[in-house]
Amino acid sequence: MSALTIVEGCAIATMDDARRELDDGHVVIEGGRIAAVGEGAAPAQWRERAGRHIGGRGLLATPALVNCHHHLYQSATRGLAQQATLFEWLVALYPVWGQIDSDTVAAAARAALAALARSGCATTADHHYVFPRGAGDLLEVEIAAAAAIGLRFHPCRGAMDLGQSEGGLPPDHIVEDRHAILEACAAAIDHHHDPAPGAMVRIALAPTSPFSVTRELMAETAELARSQGVRLHTHLAETRDEEDFCLERYGVRPLQYLEELGWLGDDVWLAHCVHLDDGEVGRMGGTATGVAHCPTSNARLGAGIARVRELVDAGAPVGLGVDGAASNESGELTDDLRAALLMARVRGGPAALTAREALELATRHGARCLGREDEIGHLSVGALADVALWRLDDAARAGIADPVAALVLGPPRPVESLLVGGEAVVEAGELRTADGATLATDLARESALLAERAA
Ligand SMILES: [Zn+2]
Repeated sequence: MSALTIVEGCAIATMDDARRELDDGHVVIEGGRIAAVGEGAAPAQWRERAGRHIGGRGLLATPALVNCHHHLYQSATRGLAQQATLFEWLVALYPVWGQIDSDTVAAAARAALAALARSGCATTADHHYVFPRGAGDLLEVEIAAAAAIGLRFHPCRGAMDLGQSEGGLPPDHIVEDRHAILEACAAAIDHHHDPAPGAMVRIALAPTSPFSVTRELMAETAELARSQGVRLHTHLAETRDEEDFCLERYGVRPLQYLEELGWLGDDVWLAHCVHLDDGEVGRMGGTATGVAHCPTSNARLGAGIARVRELVDAGAPVGLGVDGAASNESGELTDDLRAALLMARVRGGPAALTAREALELATRHGARCLGREDEIGHLSVGALADVALWRLDDAARAGIADPVAALVLGPPRPVESLLVGGEAVVEAGELRTADGATLATDLARESALLAERAA
């Protein structure tokens, strides 16, 4: 564990319970957690013991951002099916994804995690649901990638067991057997889940979507997750096509389908939730079921945009997600921070979401989605020292007097510094845990090899 660290001279948006903002303040970090946050220079009691100083002049400190939905492996399949709807895009990509192996996932995951780190994200979920036979332990590969890049990681063991021959969307050759899936889920929890405070890895269980998973697997997964104390995640209400599928196959709309399966609650978060009616928005809020709002991916696929204002007002946690890089070729969370604000305003006018509320989605709400609101998403004494420092004094943002507006409304830029548990992952705008040129070379090679195998 690093020595006592002082960050000072910066503006601070704490996002704490009082939403305290400081024009010129300090953050003290000890033992991977925040020991003090306050106005002006750090008091002498801390200065005497400091082993490291980070000068914050011209910077804004915020809690590091939280990414609630991703598919890391998709970084190897970017730029495909560019004009497709979700279902068309999936049908085009399933056969390619069926050819991934551990080298594909290692290169894609490292590159995707690096993109998140550079965009100020310290904690990310991942939803991995493609496990080709003989491809090795892909969950373990991505957990190793997250450890190497240095991010806090919530891998969600995804699954598909409803192939085309049974009426599902994915081809039969990439779905798994239900019993094998449940065994793999139990093993993932046994091997990797860390329930302790400050955990770097926590597992969630995540059957993929209503159109690729059986009702039986949904129900049995919920039972397993709750018996083991892990969270539940899936895609829901992303497109009208999915709504039609649920009405036709199950006779109910997507959210009611989940509700009947016991899938609403404060231990569940759902990606997208674009197509919800008023009653469904109320049920999300009433059950404190979380939403991973993915505005860039939803726009890229022309799926529509979630009713963020209404969901937040109803009491649902609404975190942000970049979604996989096959439907959001950027994979940088600052793009979605800005897109969340802009698209909420496209729907609801200029007062629909403030810059501070957008930052709250990317921090506090994201932490709630992952069940970590006690220790991430805010700069409070005792919270984990996951801190993002953003440059405000370069030409991109100079002259915007409100630092939070400069961050959210100004142009997305790489974070200046990112601390995860007090450890520097990005410094002076550069990733410290991997070489960017090597990440790019590996990703290009694995993307080309995958395309060749899939051809
Ligand atoms: Zn997704």
